[in-house]
Amino acid sequence: MVVGVLVELSNKNIDKVFDYNVPKELESNIKIGIRVEVPFGRQVLDGFVLEIKNENTQELTLKDIISIKDIDVVLSSELLELGKWMSKDNLATLISCYQVMLPKALKAKIGSKNLLKMDIFYKINDIDISEYKLSEKQKQIIDLCLEKDLVIKSELTNISLSALKTLVKKEILVEEKKEHYRIQYNSEKQEKKILTNEQQNVVNEIENTCDQVYLLHGVTGSGKTEVYMELIEKQLTLGRSSIVLVPEISLTPQMVSRFQARFGDKIAALHSALSDGEKYDEWRRIARGEASIVIGARSAIFAPLKNIGIIIVDEEHSDSYKQSDSNPRYSAINVAIKRSKYHNCKVVLGSATPSLESYARAKKGVYHLVNLLNRVNGKELPEVKLVDLNEEMKTNKSYFSKVLINSIKECLKNNEQVILLLNRRGHSSFITCKNCGYTFKCPNCDITLTYHKTSNTLRCHYCGYGDKKANICPECKEESINDLGCGTEKIEEELKKELNCRILRMDYDTTSRKGSHEKMIMAFKNHEYDILLGTQIVAKGLDFSNVTLVGVINADTSLNIPDFRSSENTFSLLSQVAGRSGRSNKTGKVIIQTFNPDHYAIKYTKTHDYLSFYKYEMNIRKTLKYPPYYFLCYIKLSGVDANYIFLEANKIKRSIERNLNGFSILGPTPCTIFRVNNIFRYGIILKYKKEENLKELLEKVLDHYKNNKNIKIDIDFNPSQIF
Ligand code: ADP
Ligand code: ZN
Repeated sequence: MVVGVLVELSNKNIDKVFDYNVPKELESNIKIGIRVEVPFGRQVLDGFVLEIKNENTQELTLKDIISIKDIDVVLSSELLELGKWMSKDNLATLISCYQVMLPKALKAKIGSKNLLKMDIFYKINDIDISEYKLSEKQKQIIDLCLEKDLVIKSELTNISLSALKTLVKKEILVEEKKEHYRIQYNSEKQEKKILTNEQQNVVNEIENTCDQVYLLHGVTGSGKTEVYMELIEKQLTLGRSSIVLVPEISLTPQMVSRFQARFGDKIAALHSALSDGEKYDEWRRIARGEASIVIGARSAIFAPLKNIGIIIVDEEHSDSYKQSDSNPRYSAINVAIKRSKYHNCKVVLGSATPSLESYARAKKGVYHLVNLLNRVNGKELPEVKLVDLNEEMKTNKSYFSKVLINSIKECLKNNEQVILLLNRRGHSSFITCKNCGYTFKCPNCDITLTYHKTSNTLRCHYCGYGDKKANICPECKEESINDLGCGTEKIEEELKKELNCRILRMDYDTTSRKGSHEKMIMAFKNHEYDILLGTQIVAKGLDFSNVTLVGVINADTSLNIPDFRSSENTFSLLSQVAGRSGRSNKTGKVIIQTFNPDHYAIKYTKTHDYLSFYKYEMNIRKTLKYPPYYFLCYIKLSGVDANYIFLEANKIKRSIERNLNGFSILGPTPCTIFRVNNIFRYGIILKYKKEENLKELLEKVLDHYKNNKNIKIDIDFNPSQIF
């Protein structure tokens, strides 16, 4: 047998299928989509069998595959085809597309480690034991085994390991191995909620019409999750499976437990807090059809489900659905739509603040728009107060305005809880010298270092460089190094000076330990804390009935990012966090501190007016030729020699100008952070209405540079950020 194998070498030169012979004894186990080990040059590599070329012959010129790595196929024919499409659509290597589909445990290096966990059980063999003379301990063991069908090893070794061994040797007991899943879901289900009329209408409209993609625009607290669950349950009764995508940040234990309460052990949750082994277990439960509802972040869109009945994308505006830091730079929403065509099922995109692209498509009728205009509790959305920091700063230098402090106090007096958001995006706590203004910069990157108080170090968030914080300024030699930043730690400290209350700080530092996120959420829910203070992590997906006040300490930081989406992102973040207030029977309130109270992104948050924001922002996008009116393609070029990169970037620009019409080209310009880890970066932005032959041309460009070690080219279509 001769097979075509795609080897796992992530090199742009080698993304080809090579032919190998399959030795006779392995032939019966070969399937398309299975992984094999093959000799490649002087190395041994993993690869995927993509085709069976010839059933019956062996070719003398070809090498033999060494072994087969899987029992079951890891990439179904659907996923194999999907990868080919992704590779073309994103100009990424085919192997990178297959790699992104699989859990880490199934990728080359780590895959060789055996991640299967086994539990060992014992049961009584069907023989007459009366003829044996047994010790007391052996009798005890046998009694236990007679009581139950299978007894786990640890229970018996507690009695006596040697007695157990003897019983096995005499074949009185038989040993059985069973695969052990690291995560256990409760199969207990809870009573489901009765949908409101509005929710039921939305469910009916989605079920009784036959469009491909639906956009569910529902205000915060309108009960979108209940709608999703109802749609999923319907599919479950039809024997079909579902995928629910949520942004990593809102993939909270709360969200997972709501699904578990409804669907028990039918669910599988895939998120970054799982260990490699746990992910591997979840993946296999899905592949075997033991779990049919998959909840997960971006890459869960590749879940190896069969017969998908619906795909839900919650918080569809989130930029986390676009992979932007490495190839393939795919959009999980596009992949969702592609998969839905294969499975002939629907996609539901849900959000309180849909992306402009999605809403524009819905208005054009490309997506089917459905609305939830009211909160489930029948209450209005919370009242939003803006505090003008320009005014406030004249009399009050604290981080907290008087209005905010007074509102917190009142809230605490009523025994209610508060969420405070520190909008950290594009802003981190940096350190300067009080005397000369010196700031500490990373030696490898063009970026200021961030102060980490707990470890008293300065760190670069780009390359990982770290150093102990000095007290003496290297410039003026004064002992005057001061913490000017306002990270969550600093805010917590200041807040404690003003108020006597229990504060829970939640950010990436405090939640990185496994399970800590979950514990924090439970503790806050149980009212062990009065205030939940955190970065973006507190803005999304949380549902606490006792929270009646949300405060935003600094609304502006995300406005100041040089990105055409900064207003949209600000509006959406503020609306999301505002939506955490007053979600059950108590009326909620929101206070937003800002230096730009007249900015439209902030003004429309105050009135919860998505539609007006949409109209205003669409006008700007039209004038400036940005999405959704134009498509964008971002070409990033990087290398150690800045001059060389700049020259080559200009060559590429000229070749686009010569060969394509109707493209406006910006750049090459240095990226926002020009130097990272001593690599210089330039960007070219293309804006266009029609793709024409862009992909063919860029493919040629990539091909031209593929053997050039001095320049790296990354191409991102519809980038989520330009940086
Ligand atoms: P959204 O995702 O739209 O912000 P959720 O789905 O989180 O809203 O619902 C908000 C709250 O309302 C949750 O606590 C949820 O359990 C509750 N809820 C949703 N639908 C109903 C309903 N039909 N009856 C009672 N409570 C509901
Ligand atoms: Zn650095």
